[in-house]
Amino acid sequence: MLIVMQPNATDEDVRSVVAKLKSIGAEAHVSKGKFRTVVGAIGDDTEIATLPLEALDGVERVIPVLKPYKIVAKEAQDGLTIVEIGTAKIGGEHFAVVAGPCAVENREQTLTSAKAVAASGATILRGEAFKPRTSPYAFQGLGKEALEIMKDASRDTGLPFVAEVLDARDVELVAEYADALRVGARNMQNFTLLSEVGKQHKPVILKRGMNSTIEEWLLAAEYIAKEGNESIVLCERGIRTYEPATRFTLDISAVPVLRQLTHLPIIVDPSHAAGRSYAVGPLARAAIAVGADGVMIDVHPCPEEALCDGAQAILPHEFERLMGELRQIARVMGRVIG
Ligand code: PEP
Ligand code: MN
Repeated sequence: MLIVMQPNATDEDVRSVVAKLKSIGAEAHVSKGKFRTVVGAIGDDTEIATLPLEALDGVERVIPVLKPYKIVAKEAQDGLTIVEIGTAKIGGEHFAVVAGPCAVENREQTLTSAKAVAASGATILRGEAFKPRTSPYAFQGLGKEALEIMKDASRDTGLPFVAEVLDARDVELVAEYADALRVGARNMQNFTLLSEVGKQHKPVILKRGMNSTIEEWLLAAEYIAKEGNESIVLCERGIRTYEPATRFTLDISAVPVLRQLTHLPIIVDPSHAAGRSYAVGPLARAAIAVGADGVMIDVHPCPEEALCDGAQAILPHEFERLMGELRQIARVMGRVIG
């Protein structure tokens, strides 16, 4: 931690900063420049971070030197993490394709979508039981019944499935059925939920909050990892910007940025980012080309009748064509799908 003093800070101000650091056993190195004094704090970073240094007289700025997250930081281990969801691997050379309807609406719609995406080579199924909807009057999901339908879809196709958990009280229920849990964008900073999913033993797909920075997202992942669950996949799904042409703005640069910061695998959800089916294929191709470890795609047999997110769902035959394109790019990128 570096404590930069104001140009007019007095020697007494500097002495107070040093005393504050020493009070918790940290060391202080004072460097006096021509215009300013900087105090370098050496010691337990998390403990130093609890000191209200910015509130002391004469302090202009406190600059952390180390990253605030530890377990998920790239330096925490040699090499990248490969997360296993049932039979599917995500990370390293393994590129995952998560696909299926946004929501489980009924058995037929779910099984049709699941069989179609499996036949085209998807590696993991999606289909939600609990839906976070902006309006309380919108379809909220079928709950446990949907998890049972997804279990059948998984058995019929031989593919594992991921399901969103909306509420800390449902973590056990969803974990009992699903092969992986997903924490959605609106819950990325629901710290109770993050800790609960960290205590169970299924992998977690953590979506980026639509208003969250990459650092906040990694700190959310740290909440999960801190409880002992390090099987975490980060999912970029678009952030809110001033551009209304798409539902969100896919932050494609988050992928290479995260690659510098974390060993966790990174996937991209072009469907929720674009909100429009025509943009899903181009963004999915961009995701694999930019180095993502997977994509998550909404596929619906009849988007015009979907109870949720129909405008962004692609048809099974469009998904099949996209899989062919992804396989070609995968070869160039040294990746294998499935
Ligand atoms: C979803 O994937 O179904 C979903 C609700 O996404 P997000 O949390 O990114 O909005
Ligand atoms: Mn959706």
